[in-house]
Amino acid sequence: MVFEGLANRLQDTFNRLRGKGKLSESDVTEAMREVRLALLEADVNFKVVKDFVAKVKERAVGQEVLQSLTPGQHVIKIVNEELTALMGGEQSKLAVSAKAPTVYMMVGLQGAGKTTHTAKLARLLHKDRKKPLLVACDIYRPAAIKQLQVLGEQLDVPVFSLGNEVSPVEIARQAMEHAKSHGHDYVLIDTAGRLHIDEALMDELKQIKATVQPHEILLVVDAMTGQDAVNVAESFNSQLDVTGAILTKLDGDTRGGAALSIRAVTGTPIKYAGIGEKIDAIEPFHPDRMASRILGMGDVLTLIEKAQATIDKDKALDLERKMRNADFTLEDFLDQLQQVKQLGPLDQIMGMLPGMNKMKGMQNVNVDDKQIGRVEAIIRSMTPGERTEPSVINSSRRKRIAAGSGTSVQEVNRLLKQFEDMQKMMKQFSGMAKKMKGKKGKG
Ligand code: GDP
Repeated sequence: MVFEGLANRLQDTFNRLRGKGKLSESDVTEAMREVRLALLEADVNFKVVKDFVAKVKERAVGQEVLQSLTPGQHVIKIVNEELTALMGGEQSKLAVSAKAPTVYMMVGLQGAGKTTHTAKLARLLHKDRKKPLLVACDIYRPAAIKQLQVLGEQLDVPVFSLGNEVSPVEIARQAMEHAKSHGHDYVLIDTAGRLHIDEALMDELKQIKATVQPHEILLVVDAMTGQDAVNVAESFNSQLDVTGAILTKLDGDTRGGAALSIRAVTGTPIKYAGIGEKIDAIEPFHPDRMASRILGMGDVLTLIEKAQATIDKDKALDLERKMRNADFTLEDFLDQLQQVKQLGPLDQIMGMLPGMNKMKGMQNVNVDDKQIGRVEAIIRSMTPGERTEPSVINSSRRKRIAAGSGTSVQEVNRLLKQFEDMQKMMKQFSGMAKKMKGKKGKG
């Protein structure tokens, strides 16, 4: 999960505060000391940490206490707001030019994820029925042009390339002409990166900038590099006036320092986050939602948006009706698992549910995709009859199902028991709902 270490530490700290009816100044001081350490350990820039802690402390001690909150909750609220502010407050969207084409120039060090994210943005635009053109200006990394071409083909988005013999500035110039004459409304330029910042590269990027006059210069930074990412951002920004950052590899085991420092140190807003190698693994960066995730409050909004984009509405309604009437079968359960899987890797989804990583017992339950796979295999090894009427599954059938799914009888038993409990609960709910309806009808 994103920021797992930081999230766990902060949540531990706040769990201790949460229950308290009254907070002494030393409670706050102690909590802030832990917040400070947690942030430093997450590789957040030390100046950023210092300012952050000072701000929270000032607000927490001189407090505008709200009636509805306990003092502990109040401190958490302040931390949440300050974390959000640290990451830029409002979501920062990509600029769109009134006159087509809108031009985005992607810059960053080699390996940061530039080529991948140029394609990810093209995918979003393409899905939005826009007509993007990808431009291959990284003529130095041997496979970069090919990589962009392969991605472009996958997406059905054209790629403009003049090979690696023509200068990137000239490629960019001709790409702009091509885009205008072919009615492209967006131009996405993938530029070269180096392992370290060097002057020749910066000069080239400045020339491309002067040639294409981009509406956005997007710095692609690898979140795994922690504070180094901030130094990189500062250098690029001072030379090119970067307009936004795309923070990549947030799916990895990142400590979070980059996400929490970049905006504060460089003033560059993070506009998107990369959360995987796949072409659809990109999310708009919402500072408020990210802060909630870090504090274990979940990110239900993102989850709902993902669900809306991936889940079949008719199926969902059908499912809801079945649940209400308590005629939900194992077949439906299988269907539901399929849909949940489409949302993305499970640990990412879990991280978006409030309190999930802190729920009692949840730490030990290893909900991984493999486990879902086993449950699926078990259900698939059942006959249609068994799926609709699990009560017919006697012990010899259980053995057969376990053998067929490559699992054990215990696992089959566990699944059937869980399913039975679930059905009981649904029956109770549906009974309750019917009673309530009846009462309303009479009243
Ligand atoms: P470039 O040199 O900046 O163009 O970097 P690439 O786009 O070629 O990406 C470098 C490597 O990082 C590739 O193996 C990508 O698959 C991987 N990568 C890029 N973005 C992400 C991300 O958000 N998450 C993960 N896990 N890997 C990524």
